[in-house]
Amino acid sequence: MAAAVWFGIETLALSLADVLTLVLIFARILMLVQRVQDQGRQVIRILPIYETIRRQIETYRAAAEPEATEAPIFRQEIRLEGVGYRYAEAGPWAVRGLDAAIPVGSITALVGPSGAGKSTLADLLMGLTEAREGRILIDGVPLTQGARVAWRRRVAYVPQDPFLFHDSLRANLLLAKPDAREEDLWRALDRAAAGFVRHLPEGLETRVGERGTRLSGGERQRIALARALLQEPDLLVMDEATSALDDATEQQILNALASARGQVTMLVIAHRSASIALADRQISLAPPGALSSSGPQDS
Ligand code: ADP
Repeated sequence: MAAAVWFGIETLALSLADVLTLVLIFARILMLVQRVQDQGRQVIRILPIYETIRRQIETYRAAAEPEATEAPIFRQEIRLEGVGYRYAEAGPWAVRGLDAAIPVGSITALVGPSGAGKSTLADLLMGLTEAREGRILIDGVPLTQGARVAWRRRVAYVPQDPFLFHDSLRANLLLAKPDAREEDLWRALDRAAAGFVRHLPEGLETRVGERGTRLSGGERQRIALARALLQEPDLLVMDEATSALDDATEQQILNALASARGQVTMLVIAHRSASIALADRQISLAPPGALSSSGPQDS
């Protein structure tokens, strides 16, 4: 700046006032230039983050599920042909070379030791994952792409420890079918051997407590079964509780399954001999993925 003042006065013969005015103007311009430079530096700093986020969005788009199309119509059987699944591209097979048939209206017990692939197979049959090898056919329609996504709406799942909201039994049931009528609710409860609700002082208005803790494990599972049946699913997958249930509770759940026999196709991830005996068919899995499927058995 000193050099500029000297140059202005000595060489260009400007007055001190002119030189100072020019210096003032240049100083302001310099501030603007600095601000532009700061912004530029910020853009350069953000660019790699932007690039990372863009790549992530692309990855998610590539992994996005296909749009649901028409769900396959299930009137005869679900057929598994050489079905294989592994979680990682080059990882070990969780199930492989699986051939089986699940006829409509049957109760199929899925048996095998822990880690044999029962949950993996249940996920495949529910359309949550897609077979990496072989195929699953519903009345001849492969369970792939949009059909697989749509099939999920035709499936109900009762987990080992079902979740109930801290609300009335009615509200918990209506989650499955908000427009269900009173008689639909009672019919589903009766089919799930959950008639105990009739004897509760507040009936359907009984509040179930946080996560359903005011009900016993067996009652919770029967309410969840009723909720699943209310949906009128094509396939009902039930993960039987592994924890010890008393005999009466176990019998109630078996009664519930037996009373729904023939009305809905059921796949029971079975841990107990009683429910295996109740089933019409059995798919047994043995680690590391060898499978045998037996035909109809006396139940
Ligand atoms: P089961 O239900 O009979 O106990 P699973 O289907 O849970 O068996 O598991 C089958 C195999 O797949 C096991 O070897 C298990 O370690 C593996 N597996 C299960 N879930 C995953 C996962 N999310 N990622 C990687 N491997 C898994």
